[in-house]
Amino acid sequence: MSKTSFNPFVMAQTQFNKTADVLELDGPTRDLLYHPMKEYQCSIPIHMDDGSKRIFRGFRIMHNNGRGPAKGGIRFHPQETIDTIRALAMWMTWKCAVADIPLGGSSGGVICDPHNLSMREQELICRGWVRQLCNNLGPNIDVPEPDIMTSAQHMLWMLDEYETIRGEKLPGFITGKPVGMGGSLARKEAPGFGLVFALREALKELEMKLENTTASVQGFGMVARSAVQLFQQIGGTVKCVSCWDQNDQTSYCYRKNEGIDFETLLTVTDVFGGIDKAKAADMGYEILPGDAWLEQDVDVLIPAAIENQITAENVDKVSKKVKIIAEGANGPTSPDADSEIAERGVFMIPDLLANSGGVICSYFEQVQSNMNYYWERDEVLGKLDVKMTAAFEAVLDMARKRNMYMRDAAYSIAVVRVAQACKDRGWI
Ligand code: NAD
Repeated sequence: MSKTSFNPFVMAQTQFNKTADVLELDGPTRDLLYHPMKEYQCSIPIHMDDGSKRIFRGFRIMHNNGRGPAKGGIRFHPQETIDTIRALAMWMTWKCAVADIPLGGSSGGVICDPHNLSMREQELICRGWVRQLCNNLGPNIDVPEPDIMTSAQHMLWMLDEYETIRGEKLPGFITGKPVGMGGSLARKEAPGFGLVFALREALKELEMKLENTTASVQGFGMVARSAVQLFQQIGGTVKCVSCWDQNDQTSYCYRKNEGIDFETLLTVTDVFGGIDKAKAADMGYEILPGDAWLEQDVDVLIPAAIENQITAENVDKVSKKVKIIAEGANGPTSPDADSEIAERGVFMIPDLLANSGGVICSYFEQVQSNMNYYWERDEVLGKLDVKMTAAFEAVLDMARKRNMYMRDAAYSIAVVRVAQACKDRGWI
């Protein structure tokens, strides 16, 4: 699958088909899980700051809710497509099932570029999206959360619009809200911290010592940053991070062989996870081309930016030193690159396991919001660690017993759980 012809939904369906074959799923089960159960598209008219009027396209797709109310991100991106959202919705179904939380999978988005929109215009898009889709959303129906280029502020605007329409306070409508306004402590750090909890277990399995471990990371946004932060805090070294450069419309890598200084790099990073190139150079970082993160001689690669980054075309550039790939992003590795990685014996912590800390903590936020009772940060992180470790052990156990690649093991567990729920409900 080349970068240009990449379709994430085809990738998600290919991954599902592979598992369906292994599990010998019957026809109706296959048909049900191969497609989303519901899809909504809408137009959002906005009065722009300059007096012009623009129409933005919005989406919400629910892949499956056999195991509980649907849950999934809302993404603002100029290249958003309905197939990306279909893929993210399907991946979310599997992710919730692997993490064993009682939720289904959905996803949503708006085609727009927040880099070029004022905060007022972004607020109107958030409110417009909720107005168009509110009948298909709700604490017991489908609960959105942040994804690429959406933040706690966006979630709060969406909540405010929803509560205004419903005429009651319903903080469980959405997660990823600001702390103090219905948000959970540690929600922002959860996807990255969860990834590091899983990575810690993988290092134990491979008998590698954390303090001697080096990593290279694609991305410096919400997921990447918290992964880098905890990984370095517990003794690892991150040599390289990368990000998209909005001015140059390309990506760059920022390398410091002795390890990046997380706190100072943050001071030159914008809200979108973009690093100021000139200031980083002044701080002594080597500025390298966007793909360089993949070629570093490190023990661990953490793709934590976007889909389809490790492909058949560049997988041979992955250093022989790399022993673990921990997928922070959704769908960063194409199926054809996967077979090469499996053959090389690299230990894969697949996205549906590695980044599930985000949705696990979102689930905790939902529970807290519905009770209107909020837990301490340590309690949230403790519960997250327990869930991540249990999910990791279940996948590893399956991989060992059946001699499976970790992604295949995670898929098998997820698909069996979802198929069983649909059967038990009498759907198939
Ligand atoms: P974000 O918008 O906070 O950050 C994205 C980062 O990726 C930024 O640093 C950006 O500069 C960088 N980036 C974008 N395009 C790039 C490119 N071509 N090359 C290098 N870097 C690039 O987004 P996020 O919330 O951190 O999400 C990142 C990934 O993790 C996505 O795949 C998302 O679906 C997934 N994810 C997010 C969450 C969550 O809770 N936010 C949870 C699980 C998974």
